Amino acid sequence: MKHLLKQDNQIYQAIKNELNRQKSGLIMIPSENFTSPAVLEAMSTVLNNKYAEGYPQARYYTGNQFIDEIENLAIERAKKLFQAEHANVQPHSGTTANLAIYFALLKPGDKILSLNLTHGGHLSHGSKKSLVSQIYQIVHYNVDPKTNLLDYNEIQKIAQEEKPQLIISGFSSYPRKIDFKKISEIAHEVGAYHLADVSHIAGLIIAGEHQNPFPEADVVMTTTHKTLRGPRGAIILCKKELASKIDKAVFPGTQGGPFEHIIAAKAVCFNEALTDKFKADQKQTVINAQVLAQTLIDNNITLITGGTDTHLILIDCRPLKITGKEAAALLAEMGIYTNANVIPYDANPPANPSGLRLGTPALTTQGMKEAEMKQIGLMIAALLKNPNDEKSKKQAKDLVKNLTAQFPIYKDLKY
Ligand SMILES: *Cc1c(COP(=O)(O)O)cnc(C)c1O
Repeated sequence: MKHLLKQDNQIYQAIKNELNRQKSGLIMIPSENFTSPAVLEAMSTVLNNKYAEGYPQARYYTGNQFIDEIENLAIERAKKLFQAEHANVQPHSGTTANLAIYFALLKPGDKILSLNLTHGGHLSHGSKKSLVSQIYQIVHYNVDPKTNLLDYNEIQKIAQEEKPQLIISGFSSYPRKIDFKKISEIAHEVGAYHLADVSHIAGLIIAGEHQNPFPEADVVMTTTHKTLRGPRGAIILCKKELASKIDKAVFPGTQGGPFEHIIAAKAVCFNEALTDKFKADQKQTVINAQVLAQTLIDNNITLITGGTDTHLILIDCRPLKITGKEAAALLAEMGIYTNANVIPYDANPPANPSGLRLGTPALTTQGMKEAEMKQIGLMIAALLKNPNDEKSKKQAKDLVKNLTAQFPIYKDLKY
């Protein structure tokens, strides 16, 4: 980064500090991951300079022959990964991709049925603070109050009563597997489309660690930067008959020029995701989450749903008599990054929730396995049970130092 160093030292230093933070901490926010250096390289290229409004072979500007080649590769790889009939690789983020999907499939005033946001639904699934809830009617289903699991009979009952035009599955803080086929069935019974938002579990699906929503779901959306381990962004996959509606809703419906440098990085990420190494890493991600969950349970930490089937764990902080924010701040002080999160039927407001969300994608990308998860689990349990214990804090800092030295990331990235 010699040009940046010379020209803008403030930004250069902040980037360098961020690299060091990522290298010297335990990144346990389940929506975060480490992309490969190849993905980073593709992102920071002259592709950024090109306007490519439209789609391959149908652009509004000249000079797009190489851009077309790149976007076509991204599309073909994305389709192959999810066994999808059509892929749009242009969405800038998961939230804008969802907006485009609603715009493609619904009319203003139509009804969306999604999971209660405090039970794990994403803001873009109908938050009162989102544009979505001003344009569409939002109704919610809930998780079971006893088990905190999805209740498909309840989803079916609400769908039959409410007759929505769209049902959304796929969540941000639900630690268990989702029966996408069942939700497609429920949606199609009432004449609704089914959108499976697999942002969190896309990598697991590709590796066969979770049911693929296709061929039953009508539309699948995923961000590309979570378990998928690519650049920040999203893609939309759909059945052939919806292809043109979806494409028009992305451009010109909700976006202008696509980010072709990011699309190139998506293509690189998809090629990685087609490898056996990627699939093995996803499998290990789930094993790691399960070992971590069991270690926490064995040390008297309460988990929502009593465990995990995925990469993600949700700790109930109420029995510990601390808030999610206090827990996350305590761990961050040790260099362990997690996030405060709502839990189902939380008496506290979303701004001060009673849950702590953590996961294993980034640690697994670094190469950590069961033994490390046990060490981390023991340490997190000790800290959460005794937040002011200086000895535990010292041990935690030492463990973070040892593990990050033993499993270095971005070894040859020299800023
Ligand atoms: C992360 C996430 C999104 C949104 O992604 P952004 O790129 O941050 O807009 C959408 N849906 C679900 C389920 C998510 O977890």
